[in-house]
Amino acid sequence: MTTAMSNRPQDPKAESQRDIHSLTRGELLEALSSLNQPSFRAKQIEEWVWSKNARSFDDMTNLPKALREELARRFTMGAVEEVARQASSDGSRKYLLRLSDGVTVECVGMPSRNRLAVCASTQAGCAMGCAFCATGGAGLTRSLSAAEIYEQVMHVRDDFNERVTSVVLMGQGEPFMNYDATLAALRKLNSPDGAGIGARHLTVSTCGIIPQIMRFANEPEQFTLAVSLHSAVQKTRNALMPGVRKYSLINLYNAMGEYVGKTGRRPTYEYALIGGVNDTDAELQALCDFCEGTLAHVNLIQLNEVEGSKLRPSTPERAEDFVRALARVGVEATLRNSRGADIDAACGQLKQRVAKRR
Ligand code: SAH
Ligand code: SF4
Repeated sequence: MTTAMSNRPQDPKAESQRDIHSLTRGELLEALSSLNQPSFRAKQIEEWVWSKNARSFDDMTNLPKALREELARRFTMGAVEEVARQASSDGSRKYLLRLSDGVTVECVGMPSRNRLAVCASTQAGCAMGCAFCATGGAGLTRSLSAAEIYEQVMHVRDDFNERVTSVVLMGQGEPFMNYDATLAALRKLNSPDGAGIGARHLTVSTCGIIPQIMRFANEPEQFTLAVSLHSAVQKTRNALMPGVRKYSLINLYNAMGEYVGKTGRRPTYEYALIGGVNDTDAELQALCDFCEGTLAHVNLIQLNEVEGSKLRPSTPERAEDFVRALARVGVEATLRNSRGADIDAACGQLKQRVAKRR
């Protein structure tokens, strides 16, 4: 975690409120040295904080009791707290988690044979304002820290008591509007000292913020990229995704070409089918033109209906037309069943519902 030294609180009372996850290795070593502790304690503490996901300093049983007490005086553990959950008949569990300042975010655990996928949030709310998205409607509350992104995954791991095999950052928020924390969280999730999840199994989904796509292309890890396309017709995309109007489709197309050239990796395009809006013949043709001849996978998903919105999913027949037409021009496409469809799986919906109950 890179918390700038200049941000460090001077007042010891404020210092005591700092989350231990936010300390860099250097800062942790400094704190230990001020307590006359040997440096190997840093590794022990990091192991508890990251890979063992300790909930309190008392859990750190290989540390002397006096040190545990001193750490508890100086730092918080910043653990997320579950405030609501929904369980789906397909085994998925969706959680509403409260962060240390009371802000809430959603994440989902999706088990299948020998696998556990987690969908996590990178922001509370989102500023991008997509017309079909429950999160977009309420605006941005704040970006999450790397630790807060990471801890969602650990919460799901501990709840299922199983190793997490993949993570998608497709919960609330736009990861590329919170780039540094997202990257730091991905690195901890990837690290053998953290969750140890292979980089290819860590996916970032963006609404298409081009400068950050280029930055991501230059990261050394083999993380996976998904781009929310939702229409290859500029006018429709502008209406559906007003927050990315300034990043035109032609520039996105060129940026993705560069991304593939640099990384050699296949990106995914997310396309939520919305009846009469982005599922017409002209839209299908534009989508085929956008993808034909490029290295891409198209993830078609039926729109999850959002309360208060007039937008509806396409018919199943129309969705099949899309899969067939893309296949005809040599583009790999899958029609995904939304996991946990019976548990308000569209992002932002659990939070909305809980807020309404209060
Ligand atoms: N902000 C990022 C990641 C979070 S949204 C992004 O937009 O890519 C995760 C995915 O869910 C995106 O592909 C988004 O477009 C999609 N999504 C949002 N609301 C949806 C809905 N009502 N139905 C289907 N997909 C939706
Ligand atoms: Fe934000 Fe993604 Fe929802 Fe758009 S779809 S409002 S970018 S979370």
